[in-house]
Amino acid sequence: MTTPRKPDPDMLDDLVAANRILVEQGVMQAYGHVSARDPRDPDRYWLSRSSPPAMVTHDHILEFDLDSRPVAPNPPKLYEERAIHGEIFRARPDVMCVIHNHCESLIPFCNTDVKLRPMVGNAWFLRDGPPVFDIRDIDDTGDMNVCTAAQGQGLARSLGRNAVCLMRGHGVVVVGATISEAVRRSISCDANARLQLQSMPLGPVKFLTQVEIDFRVNGGSRDSERGWDMWKKRALEAVRAGE
Ligand SMILES: [Zn+2]
Repeated sequence: MTTPRKPDPDMLDDLVAANRILVEQGVMQAYGHVSARDPRDPDRYWLSRSSPPAMVTHDHILEFDLDSRPVAPNPPKLYEERAIHGEIFRARPDVMCVIHNHCESLIPFCNTDVKLRPMVGNAWFLRDGPPVFDIRDIDDTGDMNVCTAAQGQGLARSLGRNAVCLMRGHGVVVVGATISEAVRRSISCDANARLQLQSMPLGPVKFLTQVEIDFRVNGGSRDSERGWDMWKKRALEAVRAGE
């Protein structure tokens, strides 16, 4: 029998802030979710109960095992796509945060053969274009939501070692070694997609070169936390103000 615990306070603040930041930055609207692996136990993760991300507070965050079952009894209504989180955490021990959203700017790259490729330095993690998961490769019931363990495992296989996996007709998953990294990547994905869509009608696009991507892969020019610090402060002030 598993015993529910109190969440790590720093992780909890980051997780609540992440939900609100992604709405504030236009990446998420009414749907989408953010989870964090427990920093003390790699077999547990934390995720809000079913709630619009703009309304997530500290009290909403619940503990789950990697089968995406809530640890505490008598849970409230939960997100149906929890298998996304549990199966990616199981497949990727390096991942500490999983973000799933339905960012509209990404859908053209989910549903065509055009690759989403990095145009700006902070989108380097897109490399030569993220993979696209098609749920019909797992089953073809017509439901496009990733709700079963088999579907979550299929998505985790498509993600592979990448930071991003697009989902046909649906959205995206973005992962990171920290919550702030996954949030910054989600914002950069959206910005890069919009820039690429604006640029392609103008003519051939100059994407990052392999040398420029390798420089970042090898740890050159670390991503700054300045933006995150500002966004987090604002988000937690809004939570305290009851907004
Ligand atoms: Zn979804």
